[in-house]
Amino acid sequence: MKIIDAHLHFFNAEGFKKTAREISQVNYCAQGLKDEFNKANVVAGVVMTTPARNLGDPCDLTLEDGTVDSLFYCVGVNPEELRKNREELANIERELKNTRATGLKIYAGYFPVYVYDPVYEPIYDLARKYKVPVAIHTGDTQTFNGLLKYSHPLTIDELAVTHPDINFIICHFGVPWVLDTAELLQKNPNVYADLSGLIAGNREVVLQTKDVRLFVELVQQGLVYAHSYEKILFGTDWPLVPIEPYVEFVKHVVPEQYHEDVFYNNALKVYPKLKKYVINDAG
Ligand SMILES: [Zn+2]
Repeated sequence: MKIIDAHLHFFNAEGFKKTAREISQVNYCAQGLKDEFNKANVVAGVVMTTPARNLGDPCDLTLEDGTVDSLFYCVGVNPEELRKNREELANIERELKNTRATGLKIYAGYFPVYVYDPVYEPIYDLARKYKVPVAIHTGDTQTFNGLLKYSHPLTIDELAVTHPDINFIICHFGVPWVLDTAELLQKNPNVYADLSGLIAGNREVVLQTKDVRLFVELVQQGLVYAHSYEKILFGTDWPLVPIEPYVEFVKHVVPEQYHEDVFYNNALKVYPKLKKYVINDAG
């Protein structure tokens, strides 16, 4: 089965290297990702780019040893920069024009701004103009200074209702608020979710989590209640976890008859710009 990883990170920053070293033990470099893609039959990946421009060009998909050809990206949005820097919107639009750009990414919770705040309205205008979805961080924040009231999935309900012509992707299935996410999925036709980042850890940790019945059932409860397998995307949040064991984990959680959709077809539906590349690639 061909797989699309609809949520990962690939940026030359110390934070990701540290995660790779201390949490997941993945080989955080282009060759390392290529090897993991090959092993798990991942044919394309959507990188969520950092919202910070002070560390270098966020859409430059290269690490010290180069790039991976099958990577695309969602342009990270920094609402604080949007407020104070007149050029920020132009920067984002320029990055969105790149053939590798497939969407936009909002980091709710990491920034203390609700997703329906007017500061994001020009971003939603860009989503319409370029016909791309908006992925939104939801749920737990990795850092202590994140604020959960901004990253709760319920905040996306109003956004989805007032922007019916834009598709939104609830990243990380809103974990731990999976039932809230499920309700949004079944209610709003323009709301999708990815299953990335449900676990952070090395191969052993990921495989052990398969056997943590209540954790598996927590995710399954959300999936069953939503019954929206046509809107659920596979993603890893690499380098938080190694890819191949995470595929095993998600296969364990999602009923088999939906695997083709969750691991591949749905990503092409919500990120239509991937189609050209993936279908050409298949010959
Ligand atoms: Zn992520």
